[in-house]
Amino acid sequence: MKKPSCGFSNIGAFAVFSTSLKWSKANITYSVLNYTSDMNSSEVDDTLKKVFSMWSNVSCLNFTQVPKDADIAMTFYLEGQKTPFMEEVLGYAYGPGKGAGGDVFLNEAVIWTNDNDKILAENATSLRLAAAHEVGHALGLAHSSRRGAVMYGDYTPKEYEYGKYKSTNVPYFESLMLHQDDIDGIQYLYVIFLGRVGEQRGQTTQDQEPL
Ligand SMILES: [Zn+2]
Repeated sequence: MKKPSCGFSNIGAFAVFSTSLKWSKANITYSVLNYTSDMNSSEVDDTLKKVFSMWSNVSCLNFTQVPKDADIAMTFYLEGQKTPFMEEVLGYAYGPGKGAGGDVFLNEAVIWTNDNDKILAENATSLRLAAAHEVGHALGLAHSSRRGAVMYGDYTPKEYEYGKYKSTNVPYFESLMLHQDDIDGIQYLYVIFLGRVGEQRGQTTQDQEPL
């Protein structure tokens, strides 16, 4: 996830990798290998738990946090560490697979928060939104062209949650929800996986680089 734009074209709605990369199991583990200095570790854990719940609530997947050897290893990386990108990004992730497959990386140079005021003032980045996006990649979703979708390539928190935040006064990070397009995407991969019939739509992309 980059800001303001994410390097490849957005065509159609939700997209999956060209090989329909996905986990061949429903019980998936994740671990947090280090923590951002911007937030309490318990707050990070709580945020990630909510992020994984967003995806498990609409799919056959179950997620469990483990100390190590997880399917999805999550790291806050420091500036200067080797990344697949030349330019600054909020984070990136690899699609499902062994080794680095499924691993999620979040840029520690970013100021992470779940504080509404900081997010809306644009001086800080929503951990919940960015993590939800990168976890989507880790589950096999590429970028969606649907503005307002969590899997949209750009970081646009105001665009799809500001109105909700204003009207309900629910804290931004609590009100963040998956777009129907995100739900269609994850169910394309994982409801069919369980043998249920699903509507086969969505785009594929040749791009299997970290996104
Ligand atoms: Zn992305």
